[in-house]
Amino acid sequence: MRIVKSPGAMQRLAKRWQREGIRVGLVPTMGCLHAGHLSLVHRARRLTGKDGKVVVSIYVNPAQFGPREDFTSYPRDFMRDARLCRESGVDVVFAPTNAQMYPANSRGPFSTFVVEEDLSRRMEGASRPMHFRGVTTVVAKLFNLVRPTLAVFGSKDYQQASVIKRMVRDLNFPLRIVVAPTVREPDGLAMSSRNKYLRGPLRRQAVTLRHSIQRIRAAVRKSPTPIRAARLKSELRKFIERASAVRLDYVEFFDPERLTPASKVAPGTHMALAAFVGKTRLIDNASL
Ligand code: AMP
Repeated sequence: MRIVKSPGAMQRLAKRWQREGIRVGLVPTMGCLHAGHLSLVHRARRLTGKDGKVVVSIYVNPAQFGPREDFTSYPRDFMRDARLCRESGVDVVFAPTNAQMYPANSRGPFSTFVVEEDLSRRMEGASRPMHFRGVTTVVAKLFNLVRPTLAVFGSKDYQQASVIKRMVRDLNFPLRIVVAPTVREPDGLAMSSRNKYLRGPLRRQAVTLRHSIQRIRAAVRKSPTPIRAARLKSELRKFIERASAVRLDYVEFFDPERLTPASKVAPGTHMALAAFVGKTRLIDNASL
């Protein structure tokens, strides 16, 4: 396995692979890898084949964090990540620095961003302004540097995957986006690097997000007619407030393709929520 730090070196390697007709699968991450990330790596390997190349990018992208968010405290453990990648059969770990990704020098500041203007406005985009602008910009850069045949994203970040698919369609990036299922802890909590922040009672209460989805799904499946979204939202708020350390940020019911809000909820409607557990902000989603 190679560790590539410089964007120039990554792009040269990618161009060589392209000339040789080698299939390349990219898994973009912010590191602090867990089984959810590794499931994307295995999917990338299956899809590129044994002659293909799997690249994992490890980069905590400052542009997708808000000024009061956890950019500086975000968990980082590069040695462990590199070992996990090696054990998972990754060919290249691409781990650039901020100065390399967002250069600013005598020729001027970094001043070009990619913005998706429809799907990225709601939910995460409404709660975290500028978040998706950071995501689409860094992912566009990664696509230009790694030139992948395909890139694998997790449905844990459902809206993110939708925004990236839209960007790829709109800007004609020549690759396929694959979305892989959410990997969960035994109690149902979606795996996340941020789960590291949770200890004791906070960890126990974090599963409330998953339980919320399960409750709503059971209600929706039992009901012979669609249920009003407003009613489900107010019931959910009450359910979540029973967990003393959990504060709901948003819950939304929406069309799985267009992400437009649904006023009536039925099987097949998608649900996403974000909640603070103590100071840690967690998200989850599922098709109902
Ligand atoms: P992150 O490092 O959190 O930016 O995530 C990198 C990629 O891993 C994204 O495509 C995420 O959607 C995906 N991912 C994160 N957590 C999970 C999970 N529990 N199951 C599956 N994919 C995940």
